[in-house]
Amino acid sequence: MSNKRDYYEVLGISKSADESEIKKAYRKLAIKYHPDKNPNDSKAEEKFKEAAEAYEVLSNAEKRAQYDRFGHAGMSGAGGFGGGMNMDDIFSQFGDIFGGAFGGSFGGSSSSRVVKGTNLRVKMKLTLEEIASGVKKKIKVNKLVQADGVTYKSCSTCNGTGRISRVAQTFLGAMQTQSACHVCQGAGKSIDTKPADSDAQGLKRKEEIIEIEIPAGVEDAMQLSVRGKGNAGPFNGASGDLIVVIEEIPHEELRREGENLHFDAFLNFSDAVLGASVEVPTVGGKVKIKVDAGTQSGKVLRLRGKGLPSVQRYGTGDLFVHLHVYTPMEVSKEEKEILEKLRHSENFDPSKAQKDKSFFSRMRDYFS
Ligand SMILES: [Zn+2]
Repeated sequence: MSNKRDYYEVLGISKSADESEIKKAYRKLAIKYHPDKNPNDSKAEEKFKEAAEAYEVLSNAEKRAQYDRFGHAGMSGAGGFGGGMNMDDIFSQFGDIFGGAFGGSFGGSSSSRVVKGTNLRVKMKLTLEEIASGVKKKIKVNKLVQADGVTYKSCSTCNGTGRISRVAQTFLGAMQTQSACHVCQGAGKSIDTKPADSDAQGLKRKEEIIEIEIPAGVEDAMQLSVRGKGNAGPFNGASGDLIVVIEEIPHEELRREGENLHFDAFLNFSDAVLGASVEVPTVGGKVKIKVDAGTQSGKVLRLRGKGLPSVQRYGTGDLFVHLHVYTPMEVSKEEKEILEKLRHSENFDPSKAQKDKSFFSRMRDYFS
């Protein structure tokens, strides 16, 4: 799958790093590879973006937990998700981390910042079969998009700079601080004219069909983010992300346990005694398995590779078939006569088997 570097490795921190260590590590890299210090250096730009992406995930407790559990597949990684962050995203989200290091600019040539749109969350129901193979889905979302015909003028509060300077008296003397303009959120623009159907930010709701590729092996409650497919940002800003929350539809016959699946098979009494071929459901359709003569209730058969693929692509789980001998609850007169005869038959007496040590060791070995 992706050849992305591990986010902890990118920032040069341990898996147990706390918030301040993460921030410190990112700040160091962001300053080292900052485009103002490395003009026209595409390698530095890549490093800068890579560090920002790692920071975006690890500095957010929810995203970090997802990443720790599912790796890149839980973030972006596989089929269709992600793509890196663009420079506007980085400066709009993390501009503050540079503090005064770059003359108060957000990097790049303009001093105003790109305002990011909000994230859009959707739930997606998936069957176990879809999860097993991975699936492409088209979903309808109702999202905020830029309305046509919006015109802008310079923000009068910050005179189009996107920033407001204040002079504060501190024990070190007068210090100038800058913050993003609260009126335009740092965009430096305000709306001049807008069509009637748009909101105060020049956005309107629109239904859109988005195709999403879900990687194989996802789990219930897992979140995938598709960068830039959320709500549009005001003032022609960057779009937010589309967060897809996975909902697994329970399978009628198979139980899931991580990458492994379990199935309870009930055997006809005669089949357990004489041996038979039994049909078992799998995520890839029905298969026939052989049940040996003399099979005990409680035996577990393992069908290797018939489970679910790992979302991190570390192989595939197994399907465990738990065999239970079905005991009839009603019998006819003829059946009763046969069973009465068998009741006293020597082969039906378990006491001999119970004295045989190898029988019990075999029972224990059933799971291996
Ligand atoms: Zn402003």
